[in-house]
Amino acid sequence: MGRVFVAGSINMDVVATADRHPRIGETIAGQQVLYFPGGKGANQAVSAAKLGAPTTLIGRLGQDAFGRELKAFLATQEIDLSFVQETSGAQTGTAIITIAKADNTIVVIPGANALVGVTDVAAPLLAKGDIAVSQFEIPLPTISAFFKRARAVGATTILNPAPAIEFDAEMLDLVDILILNESELGLLSKTELRDTDDHTRFIEAARSLRGGKDKIVCVTLGKRGVVALVDGKPLIISGLAVEAVDTTGAGDCFVGAVAAQLATGNPISDALNYANVAASICVQRMGAAPSMPTISEVETAIS
Ligand code: ADP
Repeated sequence: MGRVFVAGSINMDVVATADRHPRIGETIAGQQVLYFPGGKGANQAVSAAKLGAPTTLIGRLGQDAFGRELKAFLATQEIDLSFVQETSGAQTGTAIITIAKADNTIVVIPGANALVGVTDVAAPLLAKGDIAVSQFEIPLPTISAFFKRARAVGATTILNPAPAIEFDAEMLDLVDILILNESELGLLSKTELRDTDDHTRFIEAARSLRGGKDKIVCVTLGKRGVVALVDGKPLIISGLAVEAVDTTGAGDCFVGAVAAQLATGNPISDALNYANVAASICVQRMGAAPSMPTISEVETAIS
C-alpha cells in the first residue's frame, strides 16, 4: 500500500453564529463561538487517514495556543506529524467565520501556512505508489517543488486548486489528477458555469484544463455529484440524496478519500465513486476535520 503525503495548510476555524451579519461599523450580539480544526491540508490529511491510508502531513503551526490545540487534535487522527513544524516567525493560521442564516463570511489569516517552504517538502521520502496532495493555501513554489519530487520517484500528484487563483501552465504539467469544484472550474477555465446543469458544459471546461495531457480532471458539483474526465472520456457520478447540515469540508473529504483509495491501489473510477459516498457522509455533520467519515461508515453507506 502507498502512503498519502499532504503538503498544505493547518488552520483553526473560529466560528461565530448570529441571527444576521453586522453592517460595517456595527456591533451585534451573537449566539455561539465554536472552534474547529481546519485548513484544507489538515482536513484532507484527516480524511485520508480516517479512510485507512498511512498519511503524512507537511505544514507549519505557530508557537501559540491554537497551534498546540491543533497538534493535539491531529495527533489523535493517526497522522504522521514528523513534518509539521512549529515556527516562531508567525501565528497559527486562523479563519474567522461568521455564520448567519446559513450564509457565511470568512477572513483567513494564513500566518504560519505562508512559511511552508521548499525545504519543508524536501525532507519527507516519497516512493513509487505514494500519493502527493496539495492545495493553494501554501506558497505555489513549495507546491511545485513538492510535485517535482513526487514525479521524480513515480508518485501520483493530486492538486486541489483551492482557493482558485491564477497559476501558470508549468504547475499544471506537474499534476496527474486535478480535483476542483464548479466555481473553481469556472474561474480557471474562464467559463460562465453558474446557472448551468448541463454536464457537457462542465466536460468542455474540464477539457480546457487538461492541456492536451494525459490528466484526470474531476469536478465536484455539490449535491449533484461529480463529473470527471478519465482517459479523455467523461465519467458522471450522481450525488447521493442526504440531509446536509454543513457542507464545510465536503471537497476536502472528497480529495482525501480519492488519495486514500488510490494509495490502496484501487482504480480512479472506483476511487471517485467511493469519495462521493464519503463526502455525502461528511455533509451530514458540523465542522470540517471532525466530520470526516471512517472506513466502516463509508462501507455501511455503500452496502
Ligand atoms: P466544495 O466543498 O469544494 O465546494 P462540493 O460542494 O462540490 O465541494 O462537494 C464535494 C462533494 O461532496 C460533492 O461532489 C459530493 O460528493 C459531496 N456533497 C457535497 N454537498 C452534498 C450534498 N448536499 N449532498 C450529498 N453530497 C454532497
